[in-house]
This record gives sequence, C-alpha cells and structure tokens, in this order.
Amino acid sequence: MTVQGLFSAKASASAQAYAMPRIAVIGRGFSGMMMAIALMKTVRTPFHLQLFDPNSSVSGGQALASGHSSEILNSRVRDLSVSAGDPDDFNDWLCSNATFRSAVPAAIPGFLQIFVPKRIFSDYVYQRFSEALSSRRDITVQVSAETVVGLRRSHGDRFLVESAGASNPLFDTVILATGYGISDREPQSGESVATPTAVRARRLVSRPHTVLLGSGLRVVDRLLQMRDNGYGGQITIISKHGFLPQGHTRSNADPVFPAEAMPGSLSEIVRFIRRACENAEASGQSWQSVMNGLRKHARSLWRSLPAGQKQQFNRHLRALYDSHRNRLPEALHVRLKQELAEGNTLLRRGQFLRRTPTGLTLKPAGRRGAEQIYADEVIDCRCQEPDLDTTLMRSLINASLATPDELGLGLAVEATGALSVDGQVTEGLFAIGPLGLGSLPDIDLVPEIVTQAYAAAEGVATRFYPQCKAV
Ligand SMILES: Cc1cc2nc3c(=O)[nH]c(=O)nc-3n(C[C@H](O)[C@H](O)[C@H](O)COP(=O)(O)OP(=O)(O)OC[C@H]3O[C@@H](n4cnc5c(N)ncnc54)[C@H](O)[C@@H]3O)c2cc1C
Repeated sequence: MTVQGLFSAKASASAQAYAMPRIAVIGRGFSGMMMAIALMKTVRTPFHLQLFDPNSSVSGGQALASGHSSEILNSRVRDLSVSAGDPDDFNDWLCSNATFRSAVPAAIPGFLQIFVPKRIFSDYVYQRFSEALSSRRDITVQVSAETVVGLRRSHGDRFLVESAGASNPLFDTVILATGYGISDREPQSGESVATPTAVRARRLVSRPHTVLLGSGLRVVDRLLQMRDNGYGGQITIISKHGFLPQGHTRSNADPVFPAEAMPGSLSEIVRFIRRACENAEASGQSWQSVMNGLRKHARSLWRSLPAGQKQQFNRHLRALYDSHRNRLPEALHVRLKQELAEGNTLLRRGQFLRRTPTGLTLKPAGRRGAEQIYADEVIDCRCQEPDLDTTLMRSLINASLATPDELGLGLAVEATGALSVDGQVTEGLFAIGPLGLGSLPDIDLVPEIVTQAYAAAEGVATRFYPQCKAV
C-alpha cells in the first residue's frame, strides 16, 4: 500500500497541526512504525506526527520488507507483540485471523511458540498502526517521502529538520529511527540481480558457482531461497569469523541463568556463561535457555564493562554472540546443516577483499596471501551497521546534539532512547533501535525496540505536559 493512499484522510496538514506539539519520526522501518504506534497509544494529548522516509511504501524497513514472502522470522510469536504489557497480542491477532488459522490449524488454540513469515508480522504491525491511527481523531499524521539530511536546533529548544523537499516547520521532538540507513532494496522475484548487490563473472567451471558474503540470517535466507527456486550449483558462503546462526530448540526455551554474581572480567564472564550452558545441558535444559536468560542481564553486564573490554568483545566475541542470539527455527537449521554436510554448500572463513571481473579476492583466515575465487555471482548478504557518516548523523554530531557511543557502532543512547552527550541528555531528541547498538545490547531486536519505543513515548508525553500522566 502506498503511503500517500493510506494517509490522505489524516494528512490534511491543517492549521490545527501548527498549533499542536510537533513530532518528527525519521525512518519508517519497524522502529519508526513502532514509535508511531507507541506515541499514538501513550501520548494522550493532541499532537502532529510527521513520518519521514524516502521509501514510498510502509514496508517495515530492512527486516520486514522482503521480496520473498516465505521468509521466516527467527523469533517466536511470543516475542513479537507490539503492545506494551500484553505479550499475547500477536498471538491473539493470529488467532483472530481466519486465513492464518485455516492455514495453520495444528497450532490452535495458540501460536505463541511458532515462527511465522515476515509478511505476516508486517501485516500485524501495519494493522496495529492503522488501528491506533483511526482511534485518534485528535492527532494529525503526515508522511513525507523525503530523506532527512540534517537536523539542528532552532528557535530555542525546537528542531529544524532539513530534507530535500520544501522547508519543514519546526519540531518539538525528533525521533531518529534510521536503523541501518537507506537500504539497497533487495531484488523482487523476477527482477534480475544487478550491481551493486551482485556481479556476474565469466564462468570458468562447468558447474554454476555462487558466492554469498556474510554469516547472519540473510545468508541463510538467501541460500535456502536459491535452493527452493531450484538452483543446483555450488554455493560458497564466505564469513569473516566462520560462524553461522545456531538453531532454536523445538519447544519453548524458557530463560534460565545462574543466581551467582557474574565475574568482573570478560574472559571470566565467557567461562561463566559456557559453564552455565554445560550445566543446563547436563540437567536436561538447553544452552538456548541460558542465552535467553543472559539477555535479561545483558544491559547491566554491558554497562559494567570498561571500554577496553567492550572493544575486545566487539572484535573477538560479537560474531560468536550474534550466532547464538539470532537463531534459526529448528527446521531451517536442520536444512542448513544438511546443505553443509552434503557438500553442495561450503562455508569458508576469511575476509572478502574486493570483487573482480571473474568473482572475488579473498584473504582466507590463517593464511598470508590472498586467493582469487571464481564465481558466476557474488551476492552481498552481510549485515549492515548504522552509518554514522551520513549528512544527517554528521550534522547531529557536529552540532553536539549527539555523540558516537564508545565503540563507534552508533550513537550514545539511554535505555529510553534519549540521546546523550557527555552524560547529558539532549532534550527532545531520541534514537530508537539499532542506532543504539553500542550503548544497549540487543536493541536491534523486536522486544527491545518495543520496550524502548514505549519508554520514549512516555518521555515525550511528560515533556509536552509534565502535569498530565501518560497512559
Ligand atoms: C533479515 C533480518 C531479519 C530479522 N529478523 C528478526 C527477528 O526475527 N526477530 C527480531 O527480534 N529481530 C529481527 N531482526 C532485527 C530487527 O527486526 C531489526 O533490527 C529492526 O527491524 C530494525 O528496524 P529499523 O526500523 O530500526 O531499521 P531499518 O529496517 O534499517 O529501517 C530504517 C528506515 O529508515 C529510513 N531512513 C534511513 N535514513 C533515513 C534518512 N536520513 N531520512 C529518512 N529516512 C531514513 C530507511 O529508508 C528505512 O526505511 C531482523 C533483521 C534483519 C535484517
């Protein structure tokens, strides 16, 4: 659905809109949509909301906008509710969805433990957004299909949002939800895979050969889709650290974690967690339960680590941690293992150096020299990171409205999404989602984004009307 179609009724930027507090949300991926829902459900006084994103459709951003409707999310239904205080909301939505119920009868009466395609989650988010919007006759919502290129203070504590289009009025609050930046859209089925996502090379071997770069969920998605679509050639996955996502347990892995105090140094923490996993396995539980338990401690643990150890974690352990937290539904993990065992797909550890006309140059791990790899296609499935070198980010940092976190992974952010500079919160400015990844572990995942969005909305409500309690 196009954004313009959706919002035409509410987009009458009436004179009223200018009198109300004005909120800008920059980015309309999952974090931006979630933030809009949280604002509409939390800030009970009238406001004007403007959503910026050059993407012309409400797509759900990089995680949810997929050309392949069959792609499965790697989180269970129980972890994907967008309703504060109601973890069953997505399940309830699925239960009331007749089409879904007739397609998946086996899981009735509840779907909490199952994994669903992205498209279904996207429909759910979109519907909750539409419901929140139609329940608020006192707010106005406007969509701008523009890239925001700068942000600065103006008229005291208000913000001037700079975008390519007409000059924008001032905003009282700005929420950055720019995630992984402006994406190169994934090709839709039927479209050819063109540069820069992929390059074609001269075929030098009789059997087709495709190289996939990366080690996360995208690589596995792409690999299995290629096989589903009948691709019978050789596939090589090139991963810097050599890890691929681990699998979920078949049944619910309720969080467990040792009660003892956690040690202080990174190496001891790693040993502590490893031991906890072994003990869990020995007592009939799973390491996945321990990883789920660790998530509840991750924030305080991260805060307690000195900067040097955080950097060490980032360099040596993040890839391993990611492969254990971003897990695949069991059935997909079994398929991945089968692929690798049968030899049609090869995992190689090494650093991708550059593309060449006939494939790519690789620096294999543990070897000095580089190696030329011949491939018909090289497809980049690496996870993007928030880009701090955009004009928008540079304008924020130069104006001391934001500062990079100590690892340079994103911006320094509080749990509420408030941006901070030298420990001082920047009033009226928030960043939701992956931009906070260097400050808040797992803030790129749905449950953490949902919690943060509601916390930010509470902050906005209090800012506009400190005397009114947000509900
Ligand atoms: C393949 C994949 C699968 C995932 N599966 C799961 C899962 O199963 N469970 C889970 O918990 N998490 C999952 N995640 C993680 C999580 O869902 C994402 O981290 C989250 O959706 C991030 O959304 P976002 O809106 O912050 O960022 P993005 O999706 O990157 O969206 C950002 C939006 O901002 C826009 N934008 C950027 N810069 C500007 C600008 N200057 N001006 C205007 N607009 C701008 C972009 O166009 C884009 O639409 C997955 C992630 C990926 C990539």
